Amino acid sequence: MTLLLLSFLCFIPNKYRITCEERSILVEPERFELHDYVSLKPLAELLDLGYIMDNTTQQLHLTDGGRRFVLIPDIRTIEYGSQYYHLPFAPVYRNGDVYFPVQLITTTLGSAFERLVFIKSVTEIPVINKISLLSRADSTVIKFDWAEDIDFDVRFSTRQAIIEIDGIYKDKPRLKAKGAVTDATLTPHNTYTSIELALKDVNSVIERNDEVVFFNKVSKKVSMVVLDAGHGGIDPGAVGKKGLYEKDVNLAICRMLKDFLGDSLKIKVILSRDRDIYLSLKERTNIANRNAADLFVSIHCNAHLKGAPRSGIETYFLSDAKTSDERAVAALENASLKFDNLVMPNDDLSFILYDLAQSAFLDESNHLAENIQISAERNLKIPSRGVKQAGFYVLNGAFMPAVLVECAFISNPAEEKLLRQKNFQKQLAFCIYRGIRNYIEDYERRLNH
Ligand SMILES: [Zn+2]
Repeated sequence: MTLLLLSFLCFIPNKYRITCEERSILVEPERFELHDYVSLKPLAELLDLGYIMDNTTQQLHLTDGGRRFVLIPDIRTIEYGSQYYHLPFAPVYRNGDVYFPVQLITTTLGSAFERLVFIKSVTEIPVINKISLLSRADSTVIKFDWAEDIDFDVRFSTRQAIIEIDGIYKDKPRLKAKGAVTDATLTPHNTYTSIELALKDVNSVIERNDEVVFFNKVSKKVSMVVLDAGHGGIDPGAVGKKGLYEKDVNLAICRMLKDFLGDSLKIKVILSRDRDIYLSLKERTNIANRNAADLFVSIHCNAHLKGAPRSGIETYFLSDAKTSDERAVAALENASLKFDNLVMPNDDLSFILYDLAQSAFLDESNHLAENIQISAERNLKIPSRGVKQAGFYVLNGAFMPAVLVECAFISNPAEEKLLRQKNFQKQLAFCIYRGIRNYIEDYERRLNH
């Protein structure tokens, strides 16, 4: 009896937090044939869509202006204008509403109606006990108090920061401006809490487990670099025709680069991963942010799948892509998002515009990329393809100059052969090391004069 009761009490229904623009709802799913479904009525409201339910035919029409999405229960095809969406699972009709598979919302409804929808599964909403703002030496700190760690997100520019916390706050929603924070608005929502801060004289932010630190970092020295070996674990990255995995080459180059940097520059070097494990794209920049790194360098190998084989090395910084080639390279690298169960926003611009963090370091990132490419011209036999810009998710949210190096084309059999060789990996590591070294020297010269 006790056992039964206990297991009953322990059963917490899984819910989903669905967010669209600034609003979010918390919904409880129904389970049909092992898949989670949610009622479309609250969802249509959230997405601001017209909802017309015909209970005799059980057909549901979702509309937005002239656009119309017709859902028929138990039919896996959805009519949309002159197009059809084919679903792996059909919508279900229950109690006067149509239920839709949770995992298909972003890719079908979101993409058809051009809404950026984020879905997160939550078991229960954690509670934030206290949020306080305090001054500490040369920094201003937002401190959280909670029983167990709660996820939060920080978007930051030099004048403003927005923090969204995946927990609810029941205390008085008031924060008194202090230090570098000139104005603070704390807003408790049903399923999360947001804080908006106006800032002055802030150029750096560190996220820790239970606090966000804003400070005016006048670092005249580069003392820490985070090297990020792209992909890893279940995500192999691009694969060469002879079976070489991008993730393995990236890691080998990072290890050699770490030795070059550590030995001759006496700076601290952290590898985002030092073995074959999977890391989410967000976690990679988080490592750099948490350690207050001065530079972030992500190492990858390029792939070009259509047409004549390409060759050479190119270095990217985060900005909107100017050419379709740049866009294609970013799309390929951003495909790693699928391993995080995240779907890439339809237009790659939307998240870059959001990336207030990187915008503060655009010039420095560009300088760093230039130095690496100049070094490539001098030190490598493969072509130097120059500095490029595109929307790489992995550079998003880094609070420091950040670049992504596409070392050579693993899709080109000749370069795949080179990339397999220790000697060539070492040449690449040396070339990137010289680029970083020149950048650091130039940076410190500029700042100390
Ligand atoms: Zn890659």
